[in-house]
Amino acid sequence: MKIDAKISISVYEEFCTEEKLEEEKVLREKLQPYIVGDAGIVLGDIYRVDYPSEIFSEILKFADNKEQVHLMIEYLFDYSEEELAKARMFLLNPKKFYNQSKEYNEYPCDACGCRILKNNLNVGKKIKGGTTKRIYKFGEEIEELICLSVDLYNAIIEKGVNSTDFSPVYCGKELQAYAFTPQNEYRIISNNNEYKKCDVCGREYGLWDPDRYDIEQFTLCGEVDFSEHDVLKTDIYYEREQRILLSPKLYNIIKDYINSDDVTVIF
Ligand SMILES: [Zn+2]
Repeated sequence: MKIDAKISISVYEEFCTEEKLEEEKVLREKLQPYIVGDAGIVLGDIYRVDYPSEIFSEILKFADNKEQVHLMIEYLFDYSEEELAKARMFLLNPKKFYNQSKEYNEYPCDACGCRILKNNLNVGKKIKGGTTKRIYKFGEEIEELICLSVDLYNAIIEKGVNSTDFSPVYCGKELQAYAFTPQNEYRIISNNNEYKKCDVCGREYGLWDPDRYDIEQFTLCGEVDFSEHDVLKTDIYYEREQRILLSPKLYNIIKDYINSDDVTVIF
């Protein structure tokens, strides 16, 4: 397994000493060869470095004072076929998304924001080339719907995946896609979340701890059973949503139609 870290660094100048700003200049100079993109005025350059490495340790050291420096790290994993064959499940979170105006959830509890998907899923936007085999989201974050195209849906059903874990998504009267709407829940615990129980409805939820720079690791709670269903959802709401978990069988059917960073491999 090879791990890279994609990093952006922003500095709160008003809280920095002259020395800290000088240190930043030196670090940015060193990071020049690692620039892979631009995240805009606030976040600045995006760097990609090996993990672990000397330069990675230097960045962490620089970001030690969280009042002065804001660090964002995304870890990118490159697994071998042998390693992937040992995975217990795959957390699906496609990066490609289409903004659109409709809402498909109801929020029964204002306190924690847990949500219930409406019965008729209707999106406001038609996707060009929507029938080719692929996976994407309608909307982003709170109102997002993870979907697979009609062609890919037909392909997985043909391979024996249970159709009850998917719901048709329409644009007007036209079938656009199928959304992942799993029937069964499963519990995974992430080391990078803080867990709370809603005082009002009792629902458990996890909040991402932005100050944790560790690689996210998951603990599986209880037996994993994909015999009937190849898709499960987390019982805990993570940032207001139940995350989608795929069986190794389903992952193997769809892997050619997703990017490696669209899934988190869970061992
Ligand atoms: Zn609640």
